[in-house]
Amino acid sequence: MTEGLSIKIIGTMGFIPKEWRSRLAKKYTSCQISWDKKLLQIDIGNRFEGSKLDYLLITHIHYDHVEQFATCPSSTEVLVPSATFIPKLERKNSKVNFRLIKGKSPLDGLSVRPFPVLHSSTTLTYGFKFFWNKKEMVWLPDYCIVPLMPQILSGVDVLFLGAAAMRRPIDHKGYGHCQGSVYELLKKISNLRNPPKEIFLIHFGMGMAPIRVKTIFLQKMFPKLSIHYTWDGKKIEINGNYWLQDGKKILFRNRT
Ligand SMILES: [Zn+2]
Ligand SMILES: [Zn+2]
Repeated sequence: MTEGLSIKIIGTMGFIPKEWRSRLAKKYTSCQISWDKKLLQIDIGNRFEGSKLDYLLITHIHYDHVEQFATCPSSTEVLVPSATFIPKLERKNSKVNFRLIKGKSPLDGLSVRPFPVLHSSTTLTYGFKFFWNKKEMVWLPDYCIVPLMPQILSGVDVLFLGAAAMRRPIDHKGYGHCQGSVYELLKKISNLRNPPKEIFLIHFGMGMAPIRVKTIFLQKMFPKLSIHYTWDGKKIEINGNYWLQDGKKILFRNRT
C-alpha cells in the first residue's frame, strides 16, 4: 500500500512503422495511475488486463489509443473531454458509462483538466493535466501544435511527453494528422522560466530509434531540462518532494 501517486506505464509505442520494433516499446502508449485504492487508465489501445478499473480517460479516437475499448470493464466510468467521442466509442462497447469532463474535474482526491491540442483533422485531441497533493503532472502523447503551452507546462512537476517525431514534424497526408517535433517543443520548453521538473518521453516513433541514444542526444541538447525515456512496464511514484523510479528515491529539482 502506497501513499503516493503511482504511475505504471503500460506501453510506450506510438506511430512506428513495421521496419522498427523496439524492445522497450511494444505496446501502445497508455498508463495506469493509482492512488487511495483508485485506479485510472489513460487510453486503451492494448487489451485491458485486470478485473476492475474506476476511470478510463481517452485522449483521442486514433486506433493506437482506443483499439481495445471493447475490453474495458462495464463498471468503468469513461471520462471523455469531447462529446464527439461517445458515439464512436459506444459502437465498440455500449456497456460502460460515459461522463463528459470540461475544466478541472475532481476524482476522489485527484483532479484532472483536459486541454486541447492540434493533431488531427478527423478527431479532436487532448492532453491531460493532473493535480494531486500540490503536485502537477501532464500526460501529452500526441500533438502537432500545443496552444497555450507556457500556461499548461510552466511549473509542472512531471511531464510525460510524446516523442513520435524527432527533429521535424511528420505530416501524415491522406490520414489528416501530424506529429509535432519533440525537439522543437523541448526547445520551447527549455526557454520557459519555470520548465517542468522531470520530463519522461512516451509514444515513441521512428525518429527516436534507438531510444536510448536519441534520449542522450536530447539530454545533451537541453542540459537545463531533466529528460528520461520510458519503457513498457516502467513504474514511477510521486510522493512529497521526491519521486521514485523503480524503488529508487530521487529528489525533485528545486525551482530556480
Ligand atoms: Zn498516438
Ligand atoms: Zn493520434
